[in-house]
Amino acid sequence: MSVVETLYRLQQRDLRLDALRRRKRDIEAAVIEPASVLNSRATAASTLRQVEALQSNLRDADFERQSLNTKIASEEQRLYGGKVSNVKEMTSIESEIQSLRRRLSTLDDRMIETMIALETAQAEQRSAADKLAAIEQRWATHLAGLQQQQRAVEVELGEVETAIADLRATLPSDVLADYDDLRRKKGGRAVAAINRGRCEGCQVALPIANIDRARLGEIALCNNCGRILVAGV
Ligand SMILES: [Zn+2]
Repeated sequence: MSVVETLYRLQQRDLRLDALRRRKRDIEAAVIEPASVLNSRATAASTLRQVEALQSNLRDADFERQSLNTKIASEEQRLYGGKVSNVKEMTSIESEIQSLRRRLSTLDDRMIETMIALETAQAEQRSAADKLAAIEQRWATHLAGLQQQQRAVEVELGEVETAIADLRATLPSDVLADYDDLRRKKGGRAVAAINRGRCEGCQVALPIANIDRARLGEIALCNNCGRILVAGV
């Protein structure tokens, strides 16, 4: 294999390496949990907090209810227990019982409202949890696919890097220096094939002399773009 053919092969692998590195960066950016998952998780957490707050309100209200009932029973015991005979005191106890019953009634109304709100909140929480589970499942599947691609890219990167090192080891250092320099200047393509008498790098028609030299495996440059020409690939 001529030096130019080797350079052409090297370039094919270098281009593949560039593509693999780009792919690796893209995958690394894509494996970060997307906003849709984060938002869905935040919504599920917020609906759960709402349910817990309402449940806590209900427990407090129930505790207050028991306390009011105890007080009412105790006042009724005083009123009807026969120990109080003073009319004024009896009226005062009756008034206290009425007040306690009004508080109890207000509390019952509030508890019913809270129970209705809790049912709504629980339905929202279940719906948010279901949505989150579905979105997490989709993301997990997508992520598994990305991670599989990531492993494949890593494996191929290793193979291509080895192939590049092997090819470079067979080339003279001055040729490699020119090649590397040209690749930097020419968007990664230092070597251009000849296609129907034209340079594939810049599409300009080539002088016959350059084509002949390239055919002989000698280093010939495109007189327009300066790329190394390779024939018969
Ligand atoms: Zn050219």
